Amino acid sequence: PKYVYDFTEGNKDLKDLLGGKGANLAEMTNLGLPVPPGFTITSEACRYYLEHDSVPDGLDDEIGRNLEALEREMGKRLGQPDDPLLVSVRSGAKFSMPGMMETVLNVGLNDESVHGLAERSGNERFAWDSYRRLIQMFGKTVLDIDGELFEDAIDQAKQARGVENDLDLETDDFKGLVARYKDIVREQAGRDFPTEPREQMDLAIKAVFGSWNAPRAILYRRQERIPSDLGTAVNIVAMVFGNMGMDSGTGVAFTRDPSTGRQGIYGDYLQNAQGEDVVAGVRSTVPLTDLEELDKSSYDELLQIMETLENHYLDLCDIEFTIESGKLWMLQTRVGKRTAAAAFRIATQLVDQGLIDKDEAVRRVTGDQLAQLMFPRFGDISDAEELTKGMGASPGAAVGKAVFTSRRAVELADDGEDVILLRRETSPDDLDGMIAARGILTSRGGKTSHAAVVARGMGKTCVCGAEELEIDVKARQAHGPGNVTIKEGDVLSIDGTSGAVYLGEVAVVDSPVVQYFEGTLSATEGDELVEAVDRLMGHADAARRLGVRANADNGDDAARARRFGAQGIGLCRTEHMFLGERRQYVEDLILAETTEDRQHALDALEPLQKQDFKEIFEAMDGLPVTIRLIDPPLHEFLPDLTDLTVKVATGDADDDDERLLEAVQRLHEQNPMLGLRGVRLGVVIPGLFGMQVRAIAEAVAELTEAGKDPHAEIMIPLVAAVQELEIVRDEAEGILADVGVDALIGTMIELPRAAMTAGQIAEAAHFFSFGTNDLTQTTWGFSRDDVESAFFGRYLELGIFGVSPFETLDVDGVGRLVRIAVEEGRRTRPDLKLGICGEHGGDPESVHFFHDVGLDYVSCSPFRIPVARLEAGRAAI
Ligand code: ADP
Ligand code: MG
Ligand code: MG
Repeated sequence: PKYVYDFTEGNKDLKDLLGGKGANLAEMTNLGLPVPPGFTITSEACRYYLEHDSVPDGLDDEIGRNLEALEREMGKRLGQPDDPLLVSVRSGAKFSMPGMMETVLNVGLNDESVHGLAERSGNERFAWDSYRRLIQMFGKTVLDIDGELFEDAIDQAKQARGVENDLDLETDDFKGLVARYKDIVREQAGRDFPTEPREQMDLAIKAVFGSWNAPRAILYRRQERIPSDLGTAVNIVAMVFGNMGMDSGTGVAFTRDPSTGRQGIYGDYLQNAQGEDVVAGVRSTVPLTDLEELDKSSYDELLQIMETLENHYLDLCDIEFTIESGKLWMLQTRVGKRTAAAAFRIATQLVDQGLIDKDEAVRRVTGDQLAQLMFPRFGDISDAEELTKGMGASPGAAVGKAVFTSRRAVELADDGEDVILLRRETSPDDLDGMIAARGILTSRGGKTSHAAVVARGMGKTCVCGAEELEIDVKARQAHGPGNVTIKEGDVLSIDGTSGAVYLGEVAVVDSPVVQYFEGTLSATEGDELVEAVDRLMGHADAARRLGVRANADNGDDAARARRFGAQGIGLCRTEHMFLGERRQYVEDLILAETTEDRQHALDALEPLQKQDFKEIFEAMDGLPVTIRLIDPPLHEFLPDLTDLTVKVATGDADDDDERLLEAVQRLHEQNPMLGLRGVRLGVVIPGLFGMQVRAIAEAVAELTEAGKDPHAEIMIPLVAAVQELEIVRDEAEGILADVGVDALIGTMIELPRAAMTAGQIAEAAHFFSFGTNDLTQTTWGFSRDDVESAFFGRYLELGIFGVSPFETLDVDGVGRLVRIAVEEGRRTRPDLKLGICGEHGGDPESVHFFHDVGLDYVSCSPFRIPVARLEAGRAAI
């Protein structure tokens, strides 16, 4: 293969081969912009080198030929003693990894050519400064010498001269530094600094190859989900010198503001300096606008080039440039990173400028960015006192008084207080408290722990796994680092994005984007961001094929979901309707010894259920509402086994308690997740599902009577065999007929057997809804509540999965089951309605899969609805 490309041979679409930097240097070269000549060694050569620990055959010759061409063009040879060509050796991978890898400047200088450079430039100081830079960068990068040693030597030189600024060092100081640096190299690397120019270049190339596997580069790739086997390209670029004097300098710029998108001049400039100085912060830079005063012609040319780049890349670009004695050179450009807010604004600005169309604009923003824009945030944290850090599990900024039990959370919230609920970890029993709290802070558990998942679902701020906190529920306090004790009532501020926990109150600012979705801020009120969001959402909605519904189980959530654009409810859970005061009836139901007793309990529950359903139907009037019949095992509604046992053993118990204990023991299961739950309850407990169906039917009847337009879809959970579904369906149809209303009856597909027999199940179902949470658990055979902290960290580290299958759908395994069920279900019943109601319904990547596999809708928590709408649009474009 061809391993080396001259800049005139490449282009911006060759990033795989030439890396981002090389591809864009080639692109700029071919646009006729002033780029110093050079060539790129491909990432393929790097991969070969990393694998074989030697460069591929023929690479040396190919580099040699390209170097000769470069020398001819420049009219001087690399390191030529009387007039040296110098080059930089620069890393550049497909995805930018800012500052992660290495660059060596001024390659080609040695004890002879430094004189040639001095003479030719007429600037001795500059020549020796360049030479000491080479030894410094080469020592650090190629020879692995601690950079501090070189820095210390500079500091000593400054001290000796009694100056603070590197600009005040003189030729002799740099000569002294070169000597000192060579000593450092000899002492640290056990060899002399190599003076042969081609050897310098070859060693630098190998070092850049090797820097792909530097620990910080590996860490960065893991965080950014960049594949680890790409390798980096290496660019050899003729040097231009920003350190030739005050009419020289170096800088960085953006073609528009990367945090707002506003057009203008954004950047920094440093006079008489070489590239690294800007980032290293050796001196303070001046704003780029000052360049107009310093060097008007370069400034004008730069603006001209920025415009050319924007019109060419049709996007915000960032650039690196150097001015050598009044002549401007472009050293790098790429489509620049930006904040979420800027992404939306830039996309619409580019539409307005006629540079891109609306489809492209929607492609350029992501659901993750939109989600970021929806969370409230802390304003200024510079004065905030950080106590500890956990994992940012559900974004947002929450401030409130610390409480340690759900009961106190509810009590204080009822008194109008903002509270932060602190728990070691949360359980379903904490739901009240979690709802009442502004934020949730746990000391155990990961990003898919109960606290995290529930909080995200509610759009509530959550920091989890803050392990430095010792939470003592009994004493109503927590101990943190530095001997800090948090007592009930102490104010905390938690940041669900960064995971930071602050003592005291940090000021919070509201997200205008949420106000917009809520309808309290209109798109025409002058907020540019809101206007951009409005326009792009409008286009995504018009483009998408997938419907978007909400997971909501009360009227308030349903109403909010509708404001956020939900086209119905895809999952209304009914189990919370058996909590609180209603637990008593569930106990009665379970303890009932006669049919009458049982009926009595059911009769008491039915009107309560009916009322719940009516609220939801009203909020979703005219839209479909999928109600899932009760799913969890019954013992979840009974008192705790240990508590009861203790109570009975200590003689504190009455008759009821003893019967209850017996029932709890009877219902106790080793594996409740795989036990008596879902459709199995309906089959085994007479009347339970029937009561729920009747409540739904009567709610529908009453609302229809009142002129409303309710659309009920009854969903049976955890079906594995069509026979189960048939039993429950027959009972339900009887009741619907009895009340005289219509409703669709369907099932969740959340067990592998259901997916594999979907063709049969579709005989008895009007619709399927994929319960991807359970389907993931049952396909992998691990329980979400248990495995996270146990081994997910290790699995992620080893790359067994790149992201938790509870966050993003495992397309190969779980997705395959979904695909089979879709195909076989539709074969049986072409008009089968298909949806998904797991957590994945609001996950951007998963939404694209659900679009591809042909579902009719996704359902997700109210706060994720805009995200799902946007991603469904992007999937369709
Ligand atoms: P990074 O990828 O970390 O930005 P670069 O390869 O861009 O590293 O190099 C860092 C800096 O070195 C550049 O911004 C530029 O200022 C300077 N530089 C690189 N090559 C040259 C060159 N040929 N002439 C002058 N300066 C250069
Ligand atoms: Mg750079
Ligand atoms: Mg389920």
